[in-house]
Amino acid sequence: MTTNKDHIYRFRIKGSISPMEFNSFLQKRTTDVIIEQAREVDLPVANLVLLDNQPDLPLGDTLVITLGSHFTGELKSSVLKREEEYKIAQELEREQLRLRREEEAAEALRFNESLSIPVLWTPDIKIVMSGLQLHSNGSGFKKNTVYHVKLLEDLNDGRLKRQRGEFLCSKEKGALDYINVDDNHLIEKKVTCKACLKVALRFK
Ligand SMILES: [Zn+2]
Repeated sequence: MTTNKDHIYRFRIKGSISPMEFNSFLQKRTTDVIIEQAREVDLPVANLVLLDNQPDLPLGDTLVITLGSHFTGELKSSVLKREEEYKIAQELEREQLRLRREEEAAEALRFNESLSIPVLWTPDIKIVMSGLQLHSNGSGFKKNTVYHVKLLEDLNDGRLKRQRGEFLCSKEKGALDYINVDDNHLIEKKVTCKACLKVALRFK
C-alpha cells in the first residue's frame, strides 16, 4: 500500500490504558511522537497499533496523535501544511472582503456626488432605538438600513426649505451632535431612501 502524506492513521489500543496518563493526554488533546516502528506507536498513555487496513508509518517522521472517538495520527508535516493553507485562505478572504468594501465605498461616493445637493450634507440613518437593539448586525446598524440625506447646512431652494439637521425627505430632525463635517464616516454609505432621492432629483 502506498502512503499518502495527508493520510489519517487509525489505531487501536494494545493492552491497557494508564488512567493517570489518560487524563493528562485528554488535557493536551494531541501529542507529537517520532515514528520508530512501522505499525506501532508507544505513548505513555497506551501502546497503539495500526488497524490492519492502514498503511505503514514512515519511520523517522513525526506523528501527531489525537484522541477523538479513537486514536488517530497525522504526519506533523501534513498538519503544518494544512494550518498554513488555512492561514493563507483566511488572509485571501480578508483581502477580498477589504477590496469589496473599498469598491462599495467608491461606488457610494460616486453615487452620492452625482446627487449634486447644493449644500453640505451627510448620508445618515433615522435612529429607531428598539430596532437598532433587536436587529443589529454587530456594527449597530441593521443590514437593510436605509440611508437618508441629512443636511449639515440650511437649504432654501424655492419651495423646498430645510434646516440644518433635517432630512431631505422630511423635516424630522436627526441628531447632529455626533456628526463632524470633517469626519465623513458615513459618507461612503450610498443614499437609499427613495423619498430623499426623489427630492434630490430637482438638483440634477
Ligand atoms: Zn430620506
